[in-house]
Amino acid sequence: MNLFTFDDMKKIKRETLGDLVPLELFRSVRLIGMYQGLPMKGKNTTLTVGREIGKSMPIHTVEDALNLFEELKIGIPKILKRTDNEIHIAIEDCFCEGLPPMEGNMVCDLEGAILEGALSKIYDGKISVREIKCNVNGDEHCEYIITYS
Ligand SMILES: [Zn+2]
Repeated sequence: MNLFTFDDMKKIKRETLGDLVPLELFRSVRLIGMYQGLPMKGKNTTLTVGREIGKSMPIHTVEDALNLFEELKIGIPKILKRTDNEIHIAIEDCFCEGLPPMEGNMVCDLEGAILEGALSKIYDGKISVREIKCNVNGDEHCEYIITYS
C-alpha cells in the first residue's frame, strides 16, 4: 500500500502561506537539483519519479491527463496531431518558458514521464512519451510525441 496518495497531496492546511510555492522553487528542484545535480542529467530518476507521480493521478482519459497538466500549471497542452497510435502535443506556457536558451538541452522530461505514467493506466502500459522539442533547446515550444498501441 502507498504511504501517500495524490489525494493526500491536496490536503493543504497552511493558514498564512497558502497552497502555492513560487515557480523558481519548482524550477530549482527540477533543474538545479535534478537536471544538473544527478548523474546523466537525472534521466533515470526523472523517468521513475514522473511515472510514479502520473500513476497516482485520477486519470481515465487522455483529456483528463491534459486537463490535469494545465491545472497543475506545468503547461497548457495543445494536441497538434492525432493518429491511431500517436499524439503530438505542444506545451504552451511551459514551466521552462523564459529560461536562457541552451542548445542541446531538453529539460521537460519529468513532465513527459508524468504524462506517460498517467496514460499508462489507460493504455495498459503500452505507451511511451518522448520529448522532441523544448524552449530551452531554442525550439518554438516544448513538444511531446505519445506513442501507444
Ligand atoms: Zn518545457
